[in-house]
Amino acid sequence: MPRTSSTSAIQDLSPGTEQGQRETGPMITTPAELAAAAGLPADSLQSMELAHQAFPLRVPAAFVEAVGGAPQAVLRQVLPEPRELVQSPGYQSDPVGDQAAMAASGVIHKYHGRVLLVATGACAIHCRYCFRRHFPYNAALASRDGWREAVAYIAANPEISEVILSGGDPLMLEPRRLDQLTRQLVELPQIRRLRIHSRVPVVMPERINSELLSWQAELPWPTTLVIHANHPSELTEAAGVALGRLNRQRGMTLLNQAVLLAGVNDHPSTLCRLNEDLFELGVLPYYLHLLDPVQGAAHFHVDPARARSIMDELRVRLPGYLVPRLVQENAGAPYKLPVL
Ligand SMILES: *Cc1c(COP(=O)(O)O)cnc(C)c1O
Ligand code: SF4
Repeated sequence: MPRTSSTSAIQDLSPGTEQGQRETGPMITTPAELAAAAGLPADSLQSMELAHQAFPLRVPAAFVEAVGGAPQAVLRQVLPEPRELVQSPGYQSDPVGDQAAMAASGVIHKYHGRVLLVATGACAIHCRYCFRRHFPYNAALASRDGWREAVAYIAANPEISEVILSGGDPLMLEPRRLDQLTRQLVELPQIRRLRIHSRVPVVMPERINSELLSWQAELPWPTTLVIHANHPSELTEAAGVALGRLNRQRGMTLLNQAVLLAGVNDHPSTLCRLNEDLFELGVLPYYLHLLDPVQGAAHFHVDPARARSIMDELRVRLPGYLVPRLVQENAGAPYKLPVL
């Protein structure tokens, strides 16, 4: 049952107790820890507290430590702010219509030929702008029953040829849980591609371990891993090592999706550097998303006119293959709409 009050959202989004915390280093989960780790002023604690109660702060300590260069821009993505509690007109709890497209438990089927599985509610990091920050994960996880309902749905819809693992973050699941799914998908000849949407290679790169890579190596289909980095300073040395490992995997394509975020990456020079740095790590740009108008994220809004002018500048400065596609997701639309 979808739950929308902010108290239940805390439970829904206090992820990661059940699955896969073995591989992770220390996590920062309180305003006091973040203030200490990032050298924030003492008076920032109180201002973080209420937003943190509504959507808990979470960021790997190693990530905060490793982010050099532009700490403010990067940390803004995880910093709870009082503005999150202000109701902004047009901002909703489910801005992209995920609930209406829920075809079975944890199965979001919006687009032809591909289906998205909400694999877990756990994330390595809590991004304040997340369009699923109010998602009722407990009620809707594809992995809940050993993936049976999800697999049955796919089997009953033979036009589905690509399965997308999303979440939460699917790479917060242990490889044996992922294997439980792919073993069943192997039985379905209709499946031609597997895709994983994950922020783990960037923010918790130590989870890209040999167990995970062995799981992927056994898959009969090409795998696309769409990572999520918004700012070049997120591409830490450890993330580079993880991406290097992933690049050496057979049948693996690496893409990046980013969200255009005010105060984080809304400058052509930042995005140029992001895409050039990603390329050197073997990752091509895929989508640059306009912010989904999710309640609590209005302070990240970038005006579409400004987004277009940033894109123009990227086209001037970058080779075509390093220019991401600026898109916007509209509930009910048959694909992510290009913003031209
Ligand atoms: C974004 C998304 C996809 C993937 O869309 P592509 O354009 O193929 O990247 C699939 N299903 C859902 C529900 C999505 O939100
Ligand atoms: S943007 Fe991705 S990694 Fe960040 S909180 Fe949302 S689902 Fe998790």
